[in-house]
Amino acid sequence: MPNDTAIAALVQLLGDRLTTSEADRRLHGQNETYYPNTPPDAVAYPDSTTEVSQILKICHDHTCPVTAYGAASSLEGQHLALRGGISLDMSRMNRVLSIQPEDLTCTVQPGLTRKQLNEELRATGLFFSVDPGADASIGGMAATRASGTTAVRYGTIRDNVLAVEAVMADGTVIRSGSRARKSATGYDLTHLMIGSEGTLGILTELTLKLHGQPECITAATCRFENVGQAVACVIATIQCGIPMARIELLDHMMVRGFNTYANAGLPEEPHLFLEFHGAPGAVAEQMASFEEIAQDSGARGWRTATTTEDRNALWAMRHNAHYASAALGPGKHIWPTDVCVPISHLAEAIAQSQADAKRLNLTATIVGHVGDGNFHAGLSVDPNDADEMARAHTFTHTLGETALRLGGTVSGEHGIGIGKQDFMTVEHGPALTYMRAIKQAFDPKGILNPGKLLPPEFLQEAAE
Ligand SMILES: Cc1cc2nc3c(=O)[nH]c(=O)nc-3n(C[C@H](O)[C@H](O)[C@H](O)COP(=O)(O)OP(=O)(O)OC[C@H]3O[C@@H](n4cnc5c(N)ncnc54)[C@H](O)[C@@H]3O)c2cc1C
Repeated sequence: MPNDTAIAALVQLLGDRLTTSEADRRLHGQNETYYPNTPPDAVAYPDSTTEVSQILKICHDHTCPVTAYGAASSLEGQHLALRGGISLDMSRMNRVLSIQPEDLTCTVQPGLTRKQLNEELRATGLFFSVDPGADASIGGMAATRASGTTAVRYGTIRDNVLAVEAVMADGTVIRSGSRARKSATGYDLTHLMIGSEGTLGILTELTLKLHGQPECITAATCRFENVGQAVACVIATIQCGIPMARIELLDHMMVRGFNTYANAGLPEEPHLFLEFHGAPGAVAEQMASFEEIAQDSGARGWRTATTTEDRNALWAMRHNAHYASAALGPGKHIWPTDVCVPISHLAEAIAQSQADAKRLNLTATIVGHVGDGNFHAGLSVDPNDADEMARAHTFTHTLGETALRLGGTVSGEHGIGIGKQDFMTVEHGPALTYMRAIKQAFDPKGILNPGKLLPPEFLQEAAE
């Protein structure tokens, strides 16, 4: 194998924390979607920044690919070692390094998951807000520029990372940003690393913003006769400036998925799942304002969830949307895709995607963080059915084109990975040349997560 010499050197460094076992390689080749298993040549489990630096130095010297691995929940195949080499499993670097309650910040290692972090923060009265549903690692979330249900109120991970420590392709360790809330000192490498999908460097520490736990939290649901009414309600709510903590849309197919997967017993109509945060008076006021808008939009079946158990049950159901979509096509895989549009075009984008799914004879669910104009379609596909895969590809492509035509983007949160590279030229045009130059400057040998994010050159040439 071409990477054998690097692997031999890594065994010297890591001992049994470098494995080439078939089982571990296959485990690290799995993904949550329809991509075939893609095992790396070996899996490394570093314990420290120093070890990450040593690993990268060895891999750089031997031109051996390195793909960082967090919790493997990414949905565009980002963590798959497409060109072999090393899967750099960050799970042992999972400590909270410090918490500064007075500054509302903490510094953590990248392998820590968001649930582990919130567990550690519980006694402080603070919480980390970014919630992509899956129990993703903080490093993976930063690398994919994740968001989720609470971004409408608290921002995406991009808004919640103040500083990073990163190991560059040749093993050099850098720091960018600080614990201060803002800085005006040169190029913003912190935010360049966020969303770079492990192609520019390996994140080894992150300093995060925290938020105070709200005094009062109330969740609620309501339903509508059609998606148009639900979306009209969302648009009016956002335009009125009601500070929604969560506002999630589920179309009737998604509700059918919940009924099938979790016996939810919900009427199969479009629903909004909502959450309000604040002081008790403020929450009551927000809910009253929302209810007025909802009624004008045709909402019915208003239900609230005030106890922690009821709220947790509601959001657990929402967070299982991926698996509930899968329940609609037993034995099939889910091809998830997301786009994000300006909120004023949300209704048009959703209506178009529903019509496309029907036209292409695909089973599709729609669910979304619609307060941000971001929604997901989950297609049931059989990877061995070439015709169905072609129709799913047409759906995804048309949805991306629709988002761009409406002034949006082909991904609000899932990222590019393998699945959306052919959109990069269309969305970014000449800016892609500068992205390529950045990659070249950061990783001249191309060892960091090769084959991801930037499309192969020939795609760009074909588009010119
Ligand atoms: C059920 C379900 C629901 C989801 N819902 C959402 C959602 O609502 N919003 C959303 O944004 N996403 C969602 N996702 C996708 C996923 O959770 C995110 O993409 C997440 O941020 C990935 O984190 P991870 O730790 O699993 O990273 P991985 O999948 O392991 O890796 C993702 C990428 O990050 C890189 N990476 C990992 N660690 C590092 C590091 N330390 N340094 C540099 N690069 C690194 C990897 O190389 C890879 O390119 C969902 C996924 C599932 C399965």
